[in-house]
Amino acid sequence: MSKEHSLLILPGDGIGPEIMAQARRIIDWLGANRGLNFTVHEDHVGGAAYDAYGKPLSDGALALAKQVDAVLLGAVGGPKWDGVDYDKRPEAGLLILRKELELFANLRPAICFDALVDASSLKPELVSGLDIMIVRELTGGVYFGEPRGIEELENGERRGVNTQVYTTSEIHRIAHVAFDMAGKRAGRVTSSEKANVMESGLLWREEVTKVAENYPDIALDHMLADSCAMQLVRAPKQFDVIVTDNLFGDLLSDVAAMLTGSLGMLPSAALGVKGGCAMYEPVHGSAPDIAGQGLANPIATILSLAMALRYTYDCSAEAQLIEGAVQKVLEGGLRTADIMQPGKAKVSTSVMGDSILRAMDSLNT
Ligand code: NAD
Repeated sequence: MSKEHSLLILPGDGIGPEIMAQARRIIDWLGANRGLNFTVHEDHVGGAAYDAYGKPLSDGALALAKQVDAVLLGAVGGPKWDGVDYDKRPEAGLLILRKELELFANLRPAICFDALVDASSLKPELVSGLDIMIVRELTGGVYFGEPRGIEELENGERRGVNTQVYTTSEIHRIAHVAFDMAGKRAGRVTSSEKANVMESGLLWREEVTKVAENYPDIALDHMLADSCAMQLVRAPKQFDVIVTDNLFGDLLSDVAAMLTGSLGMLPSAALGVKGGCAMYEPVHGSAPDIAGQGLANPIATILSLAMALRYTYDCSAEAQLIEGAVQKVLEGGLRTADIMQPGKAKVSTSVMGDSILRAMDSLNT
């Protein structure tokens, strides 16, 4: 009998339920056609949870998240909850999950499907075949460092303070994720910081270099974060895995995202300690402007499921099958509105889901 996999689905707000419905069909397909045995739980998160429970994540959902192998999340937020207290806002549901599951490693792949090279803001030859993985530290650095705050000075000025701080163990654990990842890919890691002007950057560089000694087959180079941003738009295909801190990762992963064309195509993962629960979610938000109209692109969510299969469930063949099906559908000329191009056929969220399932049928050998 195949191993039992557990998954918590949190569709969330806006387009979340629509895109998640398509991912759910793929999970059912994997059960029926590949014998993958999933126990799927479902609950609310974000504004939907606030409406149902008065908080952005129920205690029950959090307890479940700690028990299952992985969480697949849609998106949270929307104007309906703009007036809600900060600690009960939809986004707080995400922050609670990240903190409670100790999700310190954010994986953001930037893959450019051949059929979409024209949607990139760069020239096709620069992005055709692009496949980068950005590994961003998610729970440390300047977003969390103390002291922080805004203070009044005696001379009447105000002073804003944030502190960039990293410890060796924080650097080591994210570096290990990056080197392990590179081992499953092209075997190259670029570590990015500002060692020229920041002591925390110098420490980062020294400690990543120490961790690299455990990975003799992986090539490591260091690049200042400003230079890395420049190289990402000059010659992005030089990169395989980029490992960087919370702040620079925030910026560099958004730059890399635009190389690929559309927000609706980008999956992500947040990993914690080995063997712990991981969370997978599309990079985009809840898109309230198009919610409920069948216009949302479900591919980022479906590719997030593929990441879960690869990194949590150890089902690389099924991950490849999903990615191959997405590629086949795009090559066949089908597009949701966000990635529509002249001469292509515009389809709804559910028709995109139907087509990906049909492509999986045809690729399943
Ligand atoms: P957004 O990503 O929701 O939307 C930006 C633009 O991209 C919109 O025009 C939207 O229609 C389009 N878009 C996004 N995803 C799409 C998809 N799958 N298919 C087709 N088009 C898509 O960002 P925003 O408008 O800045 O934020 C809307 C809400 O989402 C806000 O409440 C924000 O806080 C929240 N948000 C949540 C997350 C998350 O859940 N991780 C991330 C970002 C923003």
